[in-house]
Amino acid sequence: MAEKILLIEDEQKLARFVELELTHEGYAVTKAFDGRMGLEMAEQGGFDLLLLDVMLPGLSGLELLRRLRRTSQVPVIMVTARDAVMDKVTGLDMGADDYITKPFEIEELLARIRVALRKRGGEKQDLPPSLVSGDLVLDAARRRVEYAGQPIELTNREFELLKTLMENKTIVMSREKLLEKAWGYDYMGETNVVDVYVRYLRAKIDDPFGVKHIHTVRGAGYTFRDI
Ligand code: CA
Repeated sequence: MAEKILLIEDEQKLARFVELELTHEGYAVTKAFDGRMGLEMAEQGGFDLLLLDVMLPGLSGLELLRRLRRTSQVPVIMVTARDAVMDKVTGLDMGADDYITKPFEIEELLARIRVALRKRGGEKQDLPPSLVSGDLVLDAARRRVEYAGQPIELTNREFELLKTLMENKTIVMSREKLLEKAWGYDYMGETNVVDVYVRYLRAKIDDPFGVKHIHTVRGAGYTFRDI
């Protein structure tokens, strides 16, 4: 299916030219000629990318972007006037993915569109995968844990500890190692804080279901095993 681009540009000649080029490249193009109309269409969604002129009647491109970013993370390439350095900086701060300066070569625009689309597509695929052990599922992207489809409430620390253990399945993890990985700093205090949290975790993911994932390895630490 063709990727959909919303082109928000008040210079109709330029808009028509870009539309023809993008259509020729296989994109499906929709045009808006002022900021308000552009925002309305962008908020309705369904676009893979926005090409957004900064100098627009109705609502400036920067203001449009600021409002749109409250609800949408669609990739946005800003089109700025030559030397409008502030517009570029502000636009990038507001969450634009890239910018291109007028007048531009169509080849450069096409290249930037490809990069923005690829980058965004890549981010989706880069979501951390779920960690699974039998009925126990830890969804790292959504920070959710389930046992047999039943949600389990974990605190942040419990979640990080479980994630670390599941990522290192069957490996014996020392208390120091667990602190470093799940607490994220060189913890100077007592390592028995790990024992306390392991107990909390067992009470949530093992004991209620009559299973045993987290094993104590005497004198060494803890290990997570499938059951
Ligand atoms: Ca303009």
